[in-house]
Amino acid sequence: AISLERGEKRFGESTVFSDLSLAVKQGEVVSIIGPSGSGKTTLIRSLNGLEALNRGVVHLHGVAILAGSEESLKLPKLKHEMLEIGMVFQSFNLFPHKTVLDNVMMAPLYHKRGGRPETEAKARLLLDQVGMLMHENKYPHQLSGGQQQRVAIARALAMEPLVLLFDEPTSALDPETVGEVLRIIADLAKSGRTMVIVTHEMKFALDVSDRVVFMEKGRIAFNGSPDELRRQVARGDRLADFVRL
Ligand code: ATP
Repeated sequence: AISLERGEKRFGESTVFSDLSLAVKQGEVVSIIGPSGSGKTTLIRSLNGLEALNRGVVHLHGVAILAGSEESLKLPKLKHEMLEIGMVFQSFNLFPHKTVLDNVMMAPLYHKRGGRPETEAKARLLLDQVGMLMHENKYPHQLSGGQQQRVAIARALAMEPLVLLFDEPTSALDPETVGEVLRIIADLAKSGRTMVIVTHEMKFALDVSDRVVFMEKGRIAFNGSPDELRRQVARGDRLADFVRL
């Protein structure tokens, strides 16, 4: 479970959000949708400390792991907890000079999650799961965007995170490789993982999520089940302008 309470994030003079709260239960799949610039990416990056909040607190399994710079709360060093959050980026962010297999093995080896043979065996299992085992010795530049993203998903899973965050995982992909990545994320969603997915893929979001959050100008304008969202859209709610199903 991961939550943000009363989060505020500013970039200089401009406020992306203030007083934003979101709670994701263990095993829950939550998609965050909304127009460009509404703060979706900033929100998800704030959950794992890639953006520093001005105010607010992030809890992971009930433990406060991050707090805003203006928060009086002092946190202990929580490097260990931060490793429990996996992230998949829009632009894959694989290590360019490492093979596919090494990309997946690096974090668990560095953080001493197991010996090399065991880590390697696990990495191969994960690569098989995302259909990339036959490419284990290739380098990122030899792969399509969709293939790189599948490796990035295996890499995130290699640390066995409690929570997986996806930041627009298919936005940088050619249309023909979007489906292969969405299928893998959908399989993960079915397997009971806790996931937060920022996406513009509306149909996908409604198909795989337990809950959909619609952000608009730094606020949560809708937070409910896909069925509730469909009903609101069918009723001609203003959400219908954005959510075309
Ligand atoms: P998109 O769907 O286009 O990715 P988004 O909903 O994810 O949009 P964010 O990327 O979170 O929106 O951006 C929210 C606002 O914060 C935007 O106005 C953006 O210009 C601003 N912003 C984001 N990152 C920075 C930054 N590093 N410095 C200054 N402003 C930023």
